[in-house]
Amino acid sequence: MPGRGVEEVARERGIDPDDLIKLSSNENPHGPSPAAVEAIREHADRVSAYPKSSHTDLTAKLAKKWDVSTEQVWVSPGADGSIDYLSRAALEPGDEVLVPEPGFAYYAMSARYHHGEVSEYALSPDDGFAQDAETVLTAYGGERIVYLTSPHNPSGSVMPLDEVRAIADATAEETLVVVDEAYGEFAAVDSAIPLVDERDDVAVLRTFSKAYGLAGLRIGYSVVPEAWGEAYARVNTPFAANELACRAALAALDDEDHVAESVETARWAREYIAAELDAPTVESAGNFVLAEVGDAERVAEAAQERGVIIRDCTSFGLPNHVRISTGTREGTREAVDRLNETLADLG
Ligand code: PMP
Repeated sequence: MPGRGVEEVARERGIDPDDLIKLSSNENPHGPSPAAVEAIREHADRVSAYPKSSHTDLTAKLAKKWDVSTEQVWVSPGADGSIDYLSRAALEPGDEVLVPEPGFAYYAMSARYHHGEVSEYALSPDDGFAQDAETVLTAYGGERIVYLTSPHNPSGSVMPLDEVRAIADATAEETLVVVDEAYGEFAAVDSAIPLVDERDDVAVLRTFSKAYGLAGLRIGYSVVPEAWGEAYARVNTPFAANELACRAALAALDDEDHVAESVETARWAREYIAAELDAPTVESAGNFVLAEVGDAERVAEAAQERGVIIRDCTSFGLPNHVRISTGTREGTREAVDRLNETLADLG
């Protein structure tokens, strides 16, 4: 059941909803590209038709961008949709997936929906949630899918490409190593997509929800090895992404200035938060920063009283951490001021 809107909760507490700074869902504070909004307007009266050509155009544009074949690109409703396709394509009942803990919850949820089993590898706050092959391989027991998240949610740590290669080399032939790059645009490291083409056991997930600011349209994609094309084709939903989402994504891909500005703001804001917040933070390559604040539930609740919405990471198994998404420069400065007041108040 969807919860009550944050605006409604704010009003009840006497906070002007316009004064709210929402930094809890890693959304793009610049909003969508104006070109994407224009594309949606332009195509709004054509939604009685199936999105055949827009879907094909988007797949072709992404294939060109990443220098892979169109058969390797699968557009989906968000990266979440791609995770579901992977579960459907790869998992037989009882098959296992290996996921990071803490980590993005939907890998395990999707695996379970598809009658899979879940095991975990541990990333630790003690070393900044550092990611390497050894951490993953120590926990690996022949799972069908191994999920890597780079940058990692909720910490922002990255898995270096050499480590991805080492994991793929060391795992069984039947194991697919999936690199979730939902926050990839924000990181100053190379994408793992070239590995997809180099070998047949690595796939990569990407999304338009974050750097492209199109979260509400639900559009993402996966890049899979040629060898997986057939399995994907068997389980793919026809017209998996809608006309307006495809058109907006096509326009957003062309608006390189919007992406560059979004990435630059996130870089600035994560450095600002790390420097100015009165709490230890984890080095992040994403559009968010994990901070150790003590009782996360209490801090997130008190921050909300001051009109700043951040993510209490208790549900990630981190009851002493909050995740703060990067905002605009003005919003980030204001949020950090209010968070520092909150922390001082709570002592
Ligand atoms: N992967 C990670 C690591 C995420 O944090 C998210 C969204 N929070 C997703 C995938 C899914 O993104 P979407 O479905 O909006 O593309």
